[in-house]
Amino acid sequence: MKLTKAKINELLTQPECEHNLNKGGQGKNKACAQQSQPGSAQGGCAFDGASITLVPITDAAHLVHGPIACSGNSWNSRGSLSSGSTLYKMGFTTDISENDIIFGGEKKLYKAVVQVINNFNPSAVFVYSTCITALIGDDLDAVCKAVVEKYKIPVIPVHSPGFVGSKNLGNRLGGEALLQHVIGSKEPKYTTNYDINIVGEYNIAGEMWAVTTLLEKLGIRVLGKMTGDAKYEDICFAHRAKLNVMICSKALINVASSMKEKYDIPYIEESFYGVDDMSRCLRNIAKFFNDAQLIDRTEKIIEEEISRMNIQLEPYRKKLKGKRMVLYTGGVKSWSIVSAAQDLGMQVVATSTKKSTEEDKSRIKKLLGKDGIMLEKGNPEELLRVIKQTKADLLVAGGRNQYTALKAKIPFLDINQERHHPYAGYIGMVEMARELCEAVYSPIWRQVRKTAPWDQCEEQKE
Ligand code: SF4
Repeated sequence: MKLTKAKINELLTQPECEHNLNKGGQGKNKACAQQSQPGSAQGGCAFDGASITLVPITDAAHLVHGPIACSGNSWNSRGSLSSGSTLYKMGFTTDISENDIIFGGEKKLYKAVVQVINNFNPSAVFVYSTCITALIGDDLDAVCKAVVEKYKIPVIPVHSPGFVGSKNLGNRLGGEALLQHVIGSKEPKYTTNYDINIVGEYNIAGEMWAVTTLLEKLGIRVLGKMTGDAKYEDICFAHRAKLNVMICSKALINVASSMKEKYDIPYIEESFYGVDDMSRCLRNIAKFFNDAQLIDRTEKIIEEEISRMNIQLEPYRKKLKGKRMVLYTGGVKSWSIVSAAQDLGMQVVATSTKKSTEEDKSRIKKLLGKDGIMLEKGNPEELLRVIKQTKADLLVAGGRNQYTALKAKIPFLDINQERHHPYAGYIGMVEMARELCEAVYSPIWRQVRKTAPWDQCEEQKE
């Protein structure tokens, strides 16, 4: 794939992405086009986005062609789990130096790919370009092609230099690599009438398994997982699925819409968080296949799962009832976690809308009611102000906001990609309720809110 301006514009103006709908598919959302800010882009460049999308392919090697810091920036930043190979956890980089910048890094890259193939026997190698190697003009396509010809192993160039744009654009660039080099490159041994793909779900803390187990019970086969707990070969077969189930809002919308155009595979957009959304997802999949028995089975499974979950949730619901939550997360989670918290009897007093589409925003409005606060900006000052104003009991947000919660002396729960607990599906609801209870009722808060000993002395003097 040539990374041209036209290609980048095409990825930023996906006509089916709600961000662009109000621009008639012509314009592009400001946030999508945002460049990473040097020094404030923790996990934010296009290269990072591409590696988020592709690294969960567990039996492949992921080789970063760039200075070692690019690799260090993204390596192991996500808790995607694997049920098989752990090769994806190895950090490979060409670690280019000043000499390579002057004389070119292609030879070094060729040697590195061969070394990875000889020593680790991967199913495939994904080779990522970064700012420096794109700037010096190393020809990734030619190097990958040369290795493929000699070693007959798929070596996939991923054109993702950080400077081209944001993490979201990087997600789509990773998706482009799959579309151009992987999807449709092999045929499955057999297909069934109930084959689906899951697109844009990365199996953080193993949460996809809570859903795939249910799908298996229903007799639905997940042919291609993109890309949580994926094997390289499964993604090659993805073009034979009957339906794409797209998760994570619009991160891989280019994959879903291109597959619709190229392979005539329709897609639906779903969420695995919260009881209502999980049930709706299963119902929509069953409805798509239009099979009365499957619809029946789905209703039975939903009923069984909900009644089991309700028994487990009872003690937590009592403890969490009426607790006030400020939620700061992105995309689909900005409304799906609201509905999950409300299922637990909690009150979400504010949530973020920073990365939300118009559709997401209207869902949030409906869920929060007229008094709910929709946060466009989520800098620490703003969060502290909202926490104070709403007298919130806890903050649920991404890892870097934990210090804001500490400053406000309220409990914190990590909801983003660095989390260690799975919150998807019915089992995930129980896990989330347990974690929320542990956070809210931790004895540490009594200690933290006490006046400090030196301030006590001052108070006594007064
Ligand atoms: S690709 Fe560029 S922006 Fe991203 S980590 Fe490397 S140098 Fe930084």
